[in-house]
Amino acid sequence: MSARYADIIVDISHEAIDRSFQYRVPEILQGSIRIGSLVNIPFGNSNRMRTGYVVGFSSQPLFDVERIKEIDSVQEGAVPIEGSLIALAAFIRERYGSTMINALKTVMPVKEQAASLHNRQVRILFEGKQLEDYLALCHKKHANAKLRLTERLMKQNELPMTVVSGELNISGTTLSAMQKDGAIAILEQTVYREVLKTVSESGEETDVAPNAEQQAVIDRVTNDLQAGTTGTYLLHGITGSGKTLVYIEMIDRVLAMGKQAIVLIPEIALTWQTVKRFQRRFGAQVTILNSRLSKGERYDQFQRAKKGEVSVVIGPRSALFVPFERLGLIVIDEEHETSYKSEFPPKYHAREVAIERARMACASVVLGSATPSVESFYKAQQGSYQLLTLTKRAMPEAFLPKVCVVDLRDELKAGNKSIFSRQLKQLMSERLLRREQSMLFINRRGFAGFVSCRSCGYVFRCAHCDVSLTEHFGDTASPKLVCHYCGYTLRKPKLCPSCQSPFIAGFGLGTQKVEEQVRRFFPDARVMRMDTDTMKRKDAHERVLSEFAAGKADILVGTQMIVKGHDFPNVTLVGVMAADLTLFENDYRSAEHTFDLLTQAAGRAGRGSLPGDVVIQTYAPEHYSITAASRQDYHAFYEAERAYRSLLSYPPFGHILAVFGEGADQRKLTRLTDMLGVRMKSWGEEQGIIVTGPCDATIARVNDRYRRVLYAKCKEYDGLIRIKKIAEEYLKTPGFERIAVSFDMDPMQSY
Ligand code: ADP
Ligand code: ZN
Ligand code: ZN
Repeated sequence: MSARYADIIVDISHEAIDRSFQYRVPEILQGSIRIGSLVNIPFGNSNRMRTGYVVGFSSQPLFDVERIKEIDSVQEGAVPIEGSLIALAAFIRERYGSTMINALKTVMPVKEQAASLHNRQVRILFEGKQLEDYLALCHKKHANAKLRLTERLMKQNELPMTVVSGELNISGTTLSAMQKDGAIAILEQTVYREVLKTVSESGEETDVAPNAEQQAVIDRVTNDLQAGTTGTYLLHGITGSGKTLVYIEMIDRVLAMGKQAIVLIPEIALTWQTVKRFQRRFGAQVTILNSRLSKGERYDQFQRAKKGEVSVVIGPRSALFVPFERLGLIVIDEEHETSYKSEFPPKYHAREVAIERARMACASVVLGSATPSVESFYKAQQGSYQLLTLTKRAMPEAFLPKVCVVDLRDELKAGNKSIFSRQLKQLMSERLLRREQSMLFINRRGFAGFVSCRSCGYVFRCAHCDVSLTEHFGDTASPKLVCHYCGYTLRKPKLCPSCQSPFIAGFGLGTQKVEEQVRRFFPDARVMRMDTDTMKRKDAHERVLSEFAAGKADILVGTQMIVKGHDFPNVTLVGVMAADLTLFENDYRSAEHTFDLLTQAAGRAGRGSLPGDVVIQTYAPEHYSITAASRQDYHAFYEAERAYRSLLSYPPFGHILAVFGEGADQRKLTRLTDMLGVRMKSWGEEQGIIVTGPCDATIARVNDRYRRVLYAKCKEYDGLIRIKKIAEEYLKTPGFERIAVSFDMDPMQSY
């Protein structure tokens, strides 16, 4: 069938033109345009050249043939989108709200081609008598270079060009002479950029056999898949129960069925240690796709996946969109992690999109966690996910650690003003004596702390954002005050700008402060620190973790980055500095975050054969997220949290849509969001959808742009999709192009 017309999504992200446009496919392009191709097209009254994606074909014109424009050409160097991913983009647009062009870009982790790398090899062609004659001839003519290469090739047959021109020092002239002689051939092949170090087979431990619990889980999922029954499984396994081995065994069977697998791991947990375990089992069939790769590296992994040369891809959220044609299984490890939700529009949740992709491909999804999200556990209880459990630690000698909760108010009453409780200090010194390792954990997401004048209370604030500045010590002697939202930096003044007092100080418990206190109390201890500030450099995170795992420090201080993805057999003490830091965030998920972080942190202790201790310091020892975490009791936490969420109709018992507006002109923003609010309210009223706001966002200004937010609440998710559509329609009204509006379903961030 020759498609005469193509439906094209133009690469302009604007609500008013968020639809496909029909173009004629010229004769000469008939063979080269496919669904997903990026093409150049004249657009608008001025016929300015734009690019657009082909999302469909038809043989009939939709309107006056005379007025249909023609596609100019196919864009060079672009990677086409797979057909099935276009359908996934449509799902994302519908469910999360965005323009189709942004949804299409989301499903394309790799958009541009990169030049291929070539690998050249020199191979010997002569053999037997011919080779002997050639050697004799070279001898006679004193052709030393030719001799050198020929002799070496007699041993090895084929040599990489790098060795030939480097180590053997053979010139290009010699090589072409030898080619003319017919002695050698130069082979050229395209090679992929290596993104994984090769693991040596020898000396490495091999995977152990799964235990009975693990085996039952593996069998269940893979037997179902084999029988053609696909679905979503929630694997609830306590920390250290060996979920990774379960994934590996499942994937092994999936590959044996001729299918492919995607493994999603939160970016900060995606360490070399984890990847190595997959690689050891699956060798060259496994690759990674993450943001740390270069463009060329990403492109190559994409090509390998497309050609079916790899069967397992590991990566964060965006690896979900790898172009596999025989997808059998998607694993989402640590499924409760908030990083699975995109923070940019479209704000999709990888879990939901994975389930949709799997549905389209007749594949299964396994969600794994020690602390499943309340939403997922609820779905498992309702039967829409299959619940699978692992109840024991997998290492025969490993025990659950002993947890002790310390009430910081009692410490203060007893006259202890330090940030370490007596208990924690005691256990830390014991560890130092026994040469075992400790981890000190500050469960802080994002940034905290502010700097103020202790005499008059003046707080240093950013000039462009409505936030206070945080103190940074850096390498220089003079500390700086930095805005974490826009990067605005100020040298810390000696005197208060308001009252000239010299008493200016930072508040809040930061990793730097903890590190400094550790050094003060334990001057002989070797301390390492890890947080987002120290981890800006590529691979710095990985390096600190492996150095710590190798025993190069006694104490590791850090934020949540230190509790993920690494096994530290010598860590026998975990101290949580202030467990309630995350508890009173203005977010209905704060109890869940607190529980997750504490459970993960506690799960770090006693992974090896040494018994572990956990000290949780808190001002709210009676809160259920703290008591449940101290007993590693997910069910107790879930029950309490379920009651709270159901009472207030929070997810999964009701759903929330945040509509977030941003603009440089405060008055226009206010007027437009007010109008949007009126529209949504009048529509929502009849539908049982409660709309509140608009009001200023918690941080009302960032980078000199003002921010406002509206919320819609409804029992049914579909109700929110409908009101989102109403809002999207309304946003096409002239005037709204002055502000940027985005949607967030069941937000995981506060606005
Ligand atoms: P999780 O991700 O569930 O917290 P891991 O996958 O990191 O746990 O496994 C914890 C430890 O248990 C790892 O060191 C792993 O090698 C080990 N392990 C896993 N399964 C088994 C098993 N069947 N027998 C012995 N050790 C195991
Ligand atoms: Zn002052
Ligand atoms: Zn700022």
